[in-house]
Amino acid sequence: MAYRPTPHIKTIEPALAEVRAVYDELAARPIERTCIGRTECCHFKLTGKTPLLTKGEALLAAKALRAAGRTKLPETTDASTGACPMLDARSRCIIYENRPFGCRTHFCAAAGGPYARREVLDLIRCLEVVDFQLNGTGPHNLAVAVREALLQT
Ligand code: SF4
Repeated sequence: MAYRPTPHIKTIEPALAEVRAVYDELAARPIERTCIGRTECCHFKLTGKTPLLTKGEALLAAKALRAAGRTKLPETTDASTGACPMLDARSRCIIYENRPFGCRTHFCAAAGGPYARREVLDLIRCLEVVDFQLNGTGPHNLAVAVREALLQT
């Protein structure tokens, strides 16, 4: 059965709970993937893809970043690889437990490849609903979305 969002979210904490619920629902689906944190997909110039975050995802990522002791993203990353600003000095994701939906679904070939859109479309719709309820303006590039969200968390 398709996952359905909680109606009428108006504040940040319930929105974050909804985003976490979407991530939990994704993890519970019987679609085998084995991310072992190689972080190849975290280098956007190598993959040609940058995760796009809805507002709820960005707020959750910003909150996780603050919980990790960071107050901002680095202004510059490795321009040659397009390394995600969420990678730490050891090339590990600072917010892995709260990483965005795209990071969970656009897996590299070694992890089993990307999910088919039809496998996760209901979850994408839920994130879009949360975005709408938070007066978001749709998905934005990871760095842009998180910088904006840091102003609100
Ligand atoms: S948020 Fe984390 S998992 Fe996603 S691209 Fe950045 S470093 Fe990789």
